[in-house]
Amino acid sequence: MDGGSGPGPEPVTAAGPSPAPELPPEADPDVEPLPRGGFRCRLCQVAAANRPSLAEHLRGKKHQRLRSLRAERRAQEQRSLFVSGFARGTAAEELAAYFGAFGEVAAVVMDKEKGAYAIVELREAASRERALAQPQHALAGRSLRVRPREQKDFARPSPGRGARREPLGAGQLEQALCQAADVDAQMEQLVGLLELSEGERRLRHLLVTLFQEVFSEFFPGCAVLPFGSSVNGFDAHGCDLDLLLDLEPTKSLQTSARGAPGAGSSGDPGAEESILSDIDLASASPPEVLELVAAVLRRCVPGVRRVRAVPTARRPVVKFSHKQSGLAGDISIDNRLALHNTQFLRLCGEADKRVRPLVYAVRLWAKQQGLAGNPAGGGPLLTNYALTLLVLFFLQTRSPLVLPTVARLRELAGDEDRVVVAGWDCSFPRDAALLEPSANSESPSSLLAEFFRVFGDFDFSGQVVSLREGRALPLPEVGEPFKLGSLNLQDPFELSHNVAANVNEKTASRLGRCCRAAAKYCRSLQYCRKSTKGRGWGLARLFQPGAVEPGAGAGSFLISIPLAATRPPEQLCEEPGGCGFKEICAAIAFVLRDVLQCGCAPGKPQKQVGGSGAEQSLPEDPALGEEPRGDAAGLEEEPLQPPVGSKRPQPDGTDSAALPGAKRPRVNGPEEEEVAASWSCAVWHRVWTGRRRLRRQLLHGASPEEPDGDPLELEQKVSEAIVQHEGAARPPEPLLRFEASARLAGGTQREPRVLLRLAPSPAPGPLFRDFFHFLQAFLPSALRRHLGWGPGAAPQS
Ligand code: ATP
Ligand code: MG
Repeated sequence: MDGGSGPGPEPVTAAGPSPAPELPPEADPDVEPLPRGGFRCRLCQVAAANRPSLAEHLRGKKHQRLRSLRAERRAQEQRSLFVSGFARGTAAEELAAYFGAFGEVAAVVMDKEKGAYAIVELREAASRERALAQPQHALAGRSLRVRPREQKDFARPSPGRGARREPLGAGQLEQALCQAADVDAQMEQLVGLLELSEGERRLRHLLVTLFQEVFSEFFPGCAVLPFGSSVNGFDAHGCDLDLLLDLEPTKSLQTSARGAPGAGSSGDPGAEESILSDIDLASASPPEVLELVAAVLRRCVPGVRRVRAVPTARRPVVKFSHKQSGLAGDISIDNRLALHNTQFLRLCGEADKRVRPLVYAVRLWAKQQGLAGNPAGGGPLLTNYALTLLVLFFLQTRSPLVLPTVARLRELAGDEDRVVVAGWDCSFPRDAALLEPSANSESPSSLLAEFFRVFGDFDFSGQVVSLREGRALPLPEVGEPFKLGSLNLQDPFELSHNVAANVNEKTASRLGRCCRAAAKYCRSLQYCRKSTKGRGWGLARLFQPGAVEPGAGAGSFLISIPLAATRPPEQLCEEPGGCGFKEICAAIAFVLRDVLQCGCAPGKPQKQVGGSGAEQSLPEDPALGEEPRGDAAGLEEEPLQPPVGSKRPQPDGTDSAALPGAKRPRVNGPEEEEVAASWSCAVWHRVWTGRRRLRRQLLHGASPEEPDGDPLELEQKVSEAIVQHEGAARPPEPLLRFEASARLAGGTQREPRVLLRLAPSPAPGPLFRDFFHFLQAFLPSALRRHLGWGPGAAPQS
């Protein structure tokens, strides 16, 4: 949340323009100083370079108009009542007639959606006082709750739709990044492209205010406190809204009211009607309180949808979404530690200007690689919180260090910053100005490259990442109840908590592998130098899913299909029998052609140079352990090009009958040919959109005798339904064209897999990327199904 949105003291009686301030302009409560002698007017969201231009702004029409508007709103609020407790369906006129007894009513605004409350605006503040002075109110036999309307921070009226920036599509992001002068500029730009706009921040602020207003009705004294990415400095378009509902003050009020002689409840008139009247918050169980919170959200907050309590989460929450803003959110009732780790993240982001660009770059990279996300209800991926901690840890371990350790921060904390929450010391300075500036002068782009190098070579399961100490701790140093796993990342405050306990072995090893591939890419000229030929370079290419995996070339995308551990490459090459490479290639063609209804013609046979025979263990995959060849100088012209997985036309054009486009595997030394298969593919319909819904419909429509059909048959029907829906007839041109080629990778000691390379033509746009993302998830599980390798999940899309 924008901490700077508070309007400061404001005269509320005068509705007309206020006289120009006579105090020095910087003494104006709307003004905050900026570094280097600048100022910001919080009211107008305008920066001024110096005092004279600030004074000019404060005298200007725009500022005066907003001051006047704010004063008017304040006055209006002071004449308004917040009324609830009336029967559903009560008309605004009935309320106007009722409150008319206290003075003239200017307006009644009903909560249209739920009819749970109304704002009644009276003409005179004195009328409101009369209404508030009356101890009991009743309308049509129901007792009304009547309160002063809450004073909101004044939100500058939106200048129009332009203020709400639309999230950029992948293609636009790439284009924008490619315009930058160098990678440092790309990183800076990335932050600007992803962070919340002022309008989005305001919207979140308004929502929090709405929640506060409604919850205060039911839980007197409660506080709604935002935490997480909306306020920790690492916000991005569409990030969720994490809220803590602090009920401690309500519990105290309730306890003291119950203890008071003659008081049956909070002592509040009408409280016997309150949702709280028969619940003692202090003794209620967390699931009971969550249900109560969920009930208030469902019944009383306009626009709130899909409310569900999740009492089993490590930190129980109520999830919701908000219709008008499209935001998803969580309300927790017991996560005070998160308020502090949020402030810690914010402090780190403010401590050094390289932190935010680095975190944004790593987050987007990890998301694009399918390493991080925020799977609802858990999952084996890293959370954004865990990733951010990894970046902060990395910065604590640079020499000279970029960020201090948490232990050092504790030493720097003043008395007012000393906090212990649930037994954990959360003391650190809340103000970044109290930190020593870093002596480290590395550029953001070289820090990013170093991040990949460090974590490409990191023993995730054999040690514990400690931000408190700024070093990796040996396992025995972290005792019970810390849950050791494949990635051990100690929370900076709750030291017994492994923030990455959900990350499984596969994700942890993929993280290492992707870091190695990215580190290698960062040593290439394509990373360091702006492309003069309009190709993706720097961050733009780093973010392309699969583009910097070993084996992918410029403009091509790689899908890695892990094979069952019981089938090492030696067996895959045995012919006939077993599930050989040919069979896998045939299955790939089957999924593309028959299941997804794509055009898939055998392409020219491929040969690869410099690779191994399938039996060999990935000499073509330098990111898996070996240092890349030919980069002694630290830079490689085309590290992702030949000899790694290069695609050259086969001179003789020999086709295998069973698998056109494939050559038989041979046990070759380096620099000889290896097996590969290729296809020319065309996608005619958007077979990747709306599959989930169609799948559900088809399953519901299935007759009871055939509910458990072949899952791939179902997928086939889903594709057919999409084709039908789009008008069955083929469009004159396919939506997408690409060349696909498959090869084996992995040896006996490493995870064997088939690498499927897609080379779109023309250059990939957002549509191809959508298709690629879909296929990346869909193909491996569809192949598992088709080849009968264990149960395998139903293909997801
Ligand atoms: P985003 O919502 O953009 O993915 P986020 O930082 O808000 O990023 P959430 O998963 O929404 O991530 O979590 C909200 C906040 O809750 C985090 O910022 C952090 O303060 C806290 N949090 C999340 N996961 C953990 C955890 N495993 N341990 C401790 N605190 C956590
Ligand atoms: Mg969040």
